[in-house]
Amino acid sequence: MKETPMKADLVIHGGTVVTDASAFPASVAVKDGRVLSVGAREAMPEAAETLDATGLHVLPGAIDVHVHFREPGYTHKEDFGTGTAAAAFGGVTTVFDMPNVIPPTGTAEALAMKHKLASEKAHVDYGLYGLLGEDTIAHVPDLVAGGVIGFKLYMGNTFGNTPSPSTGGMLEAFEVVAPTGKRVSLHAETASIMARREARLRAAGRKDPLAHLAARPAVVAVEAVARAAILSEWTGCRIHVLHISSAEELRPLREAKARGVDVTGETCPQYLLLGAEDYGRLGGVIRVNPPVREARNQAPLWAALMDGTIDMIATDHAPHIPDEKVRDDIFTVDCGFPGVETQMPLMLTEVAAGRMSISDYVGWTAVAPAKCWGLYPRKGVLQPGADADIAIVDLGHHWAIDDRKLQSRAKITPWHGRAVTGLPVHTLVRGRFVMKDRTLVESARGWGRSVHTIQEMPKPELRNPDSTMTAIVQKPDGASGVAA
Ligand SMILES: [Zn+2]
Repeated sequence: MKETPMKADLVIHGGTVVTDASAFPASVAVKDGRVLSVGAREAMPEAAETLDATGLHVLPGAIDVHVHFREPGYTHKEDFGTGTAAAAFGGVTTVFDMPNVIPPTGTAEALAMKHKLASEKAHVDYGLYGLLGEDTIAHVPDLVAGGVIGFKLYMGNTFGNTPSPSTGGMLEAFEVVAPTGKRVSLHAETASIMARREARLRAAGRKDPLAHLAARPAVVAVEAVARAAILSEWTGCRIHVLHISSAEELRPLREAKARGVDVTGETCPQYLLLGAEDYGRLGGVIRVNPPVREARNQAPLWAALMDGTIDMIATDHAPHIPDEKVRDDIFTVDCGFPGVETQMPLMLTEVAAGRMSISDYVGWTAVAPAKCWGLYPRKGVLQPGADADIAIVDLGHHWAIDDRKLQSRAKITPWHGRAVTGLPVHTLVRGRFVMKDRTLVESARGWGRSVHTIQEMPKPELRNPDSTMTAIVQKPDGASGVAA
């Protein structure tokens, strides 16, 4: 009896496959949601469906570790349906959603509710962050058991006014999370500095857009990154510095990495491409935390990506509706704007301009996030066995961003009218088209799944084992004490 040859579900022909090391012409066969093979056209199996990607580049879909899809609680701004549709149009195949919603994702019940909402509506895969605050430390085991991808800790206030833990609370939080291996993502701005600055500015009558930048000088991030790194080093808790915005905070980050602290970092397109001179033109639209800073910060941030000090690009997709963004008093404007759909075109424009290679881009948006959260090599790379999460892009397509055409419910960004080069044409998640020929595949709503089930975070080396919570509550004679 002759064996029937393996048949693929889909073969993508004619494109250029991109890894973090190279770009080469190859076909990609997909079966049962995974990459079956990558290679010469004549080596591909028969397929139920073929896609001609001649002239296009075939990238591992981007993994955006920092989005706010606002559900539950703020669905007039966004929900899992509109947010993940925006991701699909942006070539983003996995997102990590933040916990500053109503109720905050700080209990097992709130997490279970969010898992349900996301699984019903998501077009792309997702991870959910648990909130790590002064009063949710006790919930860490339940949140881990309930399937968080990691934790979010707000050292500084931002939208939702989640209270910032004290340094003592933060140390204890790190002590509890450390043995789980999960990574704690930090909004690294020190609240008490900002509160005093903002009060002084308001008392002086400042409410112009640049007052927002004045309220959050880079020292808020320098102090926060340095302090978090010290606590991470003490406890062995893995940390991630969100939205790096200044040249100055790169120094404590570099020093921590040199000491062997397991700290990773991200920056976002707004810090690489916008500057203080844009406040006049954009007004409240540009208000985001941390603030877009003086243009002199851009070159050091790019250099930090190139030398690995900053590991990845995320977006801090933080939608608000126009009424919440256009106000006379900058301190009353909601902070943030959508970004998950525009990240890839904005960054591919920089590839086209020769600032970095397409492989650098794949390293920063797919490989690094997958590795830092234990998803590699199931995600972040196109090789046999990996999830077929694919962004097929036209690197030569010139167009202009139009806020009105974005999938996000919040149709207001600082990028409106900006000329870009590079466009995602098709997006696949686990082998299924979620966006095809710039059209949303409606039937893929609810296809997205939580990635915590494939996450592997090996236990970290605890550098100071006496600092674990178990050790702290032990009595000297070895008899177990009881935490009050
Ligand atoms: Zn954020």
